[in-house]
Amino acid sequence: MTAKRLRVGVMGGTFDPIHHGHLVAASEAASTLGLDEVIFVPTGQPWHKKPVSSAEHRYLMTVIATAANPQFNVSRIDIDRPGTTYTIDTLRDLASQYPDADLVFISGADAIAQILAWKEIDQIWSLAEFIAVSRPGHVLELPEAPEGTISVLEVPALSISSTNIRSRAEEDKPIWYLVPDGVVQYIAKHQLYRGNK
Ligand code: NAP
Repeated sequence: MTAKRLRVGVMGGTFDPIHHGHLVAASEAASTLGLDEVIFVPTGQPWHKKPVSSAEHRYLMTVIATAANPQFNVSRIDIDRPGTTYTIDTLRDLASQYPDADLVFISGADAIAQILAWKEIDQIWSLAEFIAVSRPGHVLELPEAPEGTISVLEVPALSISSTNIRSRAEEDKPIWYLVPDGVVQYIAKHQLYRGNK
């Protein structure tokens, strides 16, 4: 008898900082798509922008935010790989770490909308299926991808955004309940997002 293949979610993002929108999206994806596990993978150096916080801060906040959920794990693969982060490398590394799993890459709809410009896109399709998480009512034009490779998942809590949280922290406004309590305390302790403007 052949063993059932695992379905593993790969939650890719800058997570600067991680917030409840990301966590609800991962939880919703796990339940809707029947995932056995969700691995959060904070990007190293994204090709298109410079994160405000160091990879180590973003990684640690992601660990704090996901610690209580036994279905959630965090991987260092992107932050430990030297150079620019490309999803093709993320998926190849995870495919060799999880040879018995089908990978489901989950990210923001605005990020997935640009997927055709990603490195080695022709090779990417065979490595994972893609879930573009979006808030209800957000009109999204899906890129022309092979049939069945990209789906949309609507997540109401995604009206929370990392950009907004960074601005609030900068202006000394409360960020309680937008991010997990431990992340509020981590941001305060390390004085993240102060003096961004
Ligand atoms: P981004 O451009 O910072 O984010 C675009 C939008 O998606 C933002 O509204 C963002 O909200 C949201 N978002 C990002 N990650 C999300 C997640 N996991 N769940 C729900 N919403 C999310 O995108 P990014 O964070 O830099 O990149 C997203 C992923 O795509 C990363 O894994 C990255 O490595 C990959 N990517 C790969 C390539 C490539 O291979 N060439 C190029 C671009 C991106 P918040 O700001 O609130 O998170």
